Amino acid sequence: MVDEAANPALGAVSDQYVQNVLEAERDPEAFWLAQARRLVWHSEPSHASRSDFTGDVRIAWYEDGRLNVAENCLDRYLLTQPDKAAVIWEGQEDGHRTVLTYRELHARVCRLANTLRRLGVSKGDRVAIHLPMVVEGVVAMLACARIGAIHVVLFGGFSAEGLAERLRDSQAVLVITADVARRGAKLIPSKTTMDEALDACGPECAVRKVLVVAVTGAKVPMQAGRDLSYEAEVALEMPDCPVEVMDACDPLFLLYTSGSTGRPKGVVHGSGGYLVWASFTHQTVFNSQPDDIFWCTADTSWITGHTYVVYGPLVNGGTIMIYEGLPSWPAPGRWWDVIDRNGVTVFYTSPTVIRAAMREDDHVVESRSLASLRVLGTVGEPISPEAWQWFHDKVGRNCCPVADTWWQTETGGVMITASAGKVPGRPGAAGLPLPGVQVELLTPAGAGQEQPVVEGAGEGLLCLSSSWPGQAMTLWQDHERFRQTYFTTCPGRYFSGDGARREADGYIWITGRVDDVVNVSGHRIGTAEIEDAIATDHEVVESAAVGIPHDLKGQGLVVYVVPREEGVLDTARVRKVVADSVGRYAAPEKVYVVRDLPKTRSGKIVRRLLRKIAAGELENLGDLSTLSDPDCVQALIRQVAEQQ
Ligand code: ATP
Ligand code: MG
Repeated sequence: MVDEAANPALGAVSDQYVQNVLEAERDPEAFWLAQARRLVWHSEPSHASRSDFTGDVRIAWYEDGRLNVAENCLDRYLLTQPDKAAVIWEGQEDGHRTVLTYRELHARVCRLANTLRRLGVSKGDRVAIHLPMVVEGVVAMLACARIGAIHVVLFGGFSAEGLAERLRDSQAVLVITADVARRGAKLIPSKTTMDEALDACGPECAVRKVLVVAVTGAKVPMQAGRDLSYEAEVALEMPDCPVEVMDACDPLFLLYTSGSTGRPKGVVHGSGGYLVWASFTHQTVFNSQPDDIFWCTADTSWITGHTYVVYGPLVNGGTIMIYEGLPSWPAPGRWWDVIDRNGVTVFYTSPTVIRAAMREDDHVVESRSLASLRVLGTVGEPISPEAWQWFHDKVGRNCCPVADTWWQTETGGVMITASAGKVPGRPGAAGLPLPGVQVELLTPAGAGQEQPVVEGAGEGLLCLSSSWPGQAMTLWQDHERFRQTYFTTCPGRYFSGDGARREADGYIWITGRVDDVVNVSGHRIGTAEIEDAIATDHEVVESAAVGIPHDLKGQGLVVYVVPREEGVLDTARVRKVVADSVGRYAAPEKVYVVRDLPKTRSGKIVRRLLRKIAAGELENLGDLSTLSDPDCVQALIRQVAEQQ
């Protein structure tokens, strides 16, 4: 039981928030059933959770409820606000801008939903969406939801191999792709890459039709009988389409995790629970207001794009901002201009974007107004106190709350954060669990040994002791992997894979992935701690710490640093910064100065690769398809070899 005396942090947060936390603790069933009223149901659920973390593991929310997700995001607003902007889209080319009202978005979704039905897609079929950041991406997700098809959004930058693997695994029957996508000065040949992927799939391929969106209008090869023009097909259809009424636990989508730690997992989310979670968290975390222009910069192929580009803001009747291009193309400050031009009020991005902006001259951000901003957020990796402060001071101009948000593909939405206007932010800390989120830290122990729960201040494995509506239901066609991955390390609990530290007043700091914890002569060191220390050196743009086998110490610490000025960095100073702020035992064995770090498509540093490169294990680098730029690996190997 949380009370204010035991958890003084709650004393500093708003009364309403404290009230919600206590209410959710007292009677979770009633609390979550009340939250279900955020949605419109064809048949209201009579109970909230029937989930069980033991035995075979079962995740089930609002089981006897029936609804349609697209109807919740669109149709209900046709009556109340048909002419409100649902989507503001800006292209990277000057003058490219589209605003779609709720009425217009609804019509587009219906036309595509009718098209999909005509092409033989039915409830439960998988549809792969492989598009850049264009309006059709949102339309496609909602069209699938409308007819009960399960969408599988695939990153536009994946190689043919990466796409083929996911098409095979999901057994998608239809693909929606682009002719060509723009990415800064580069053109990405989406359609030809998809063609290669379909060839590579071979006999295991279930894809029957490919709809090609004319993003640039380039001429691309079309296979007769299989490939169709998206624009021509939707033009044949009516702007109205009856919804498929779904059970709350019918899958809404399947999404592959970022693949930071290994083979990506096909996470399956249900309809009712996920949508309640999207609505609840979007409103609570960002203190969302009806006139917000909400810009989550994540690609829609990442869970953040699902929940906070599309479902959260739309189910709450908001206006979403979508920008096609990169932060600094054609010139630094491009995203700040997007904020100013469109009056963006909530800006939700990632630490990697913030670090890149910090690399630029402060004049770039200072020369923009940014007066429309009200709330800032960040997600994806731990944010160093330095980066948090810079974001708060320079982008938020000292007056916007910053919500760091810890969550995962598997959690469906935010779990731990400093909710805007309710929980004071603290640089570098993730914040407090949301109401109804039951965090427990467990002491790591050997197999079969007891893992005591850490009470009060302390550090441990970050677990959730009970289910929440946004929890993933399973891994696609692999429930056993689901059970094994999340429910065996800490039996009876969901184990996130991350470690965390809790302060006496309840604030939680994410220390990084447990697999990344480095054990030097018996000292357990979180990679985030090392990287936070290095971030205080202004000559360093970003860094990554990894452990490699060491004869005497068990593990030795190796650090990769990206200098502000290419090639110029005093590595002895980096070692000293770590020794001074963390401890002499943590001083890295080796500091490699590199131009870039390998990142996933969602901007996360892929430490497993760095570990292998540092340890000289170059034969089996594992799945590279999740990298945003697979070419950087060879460059990295070269740079490291030069410094050995
Ligand atoms: P995979 O599971 O395939 O290895 P992934 O874990 O990177 O990939 P995601 O679900 O996109 O895939 O990322 C969730 C992870 O990202 C979290 O488990 C955590 O390690 C990290 N993370 C996300 N947000 C934060 C945050 N605010 N602070 C610290 N870490 C974060
Ligand atoms: Mg993960």
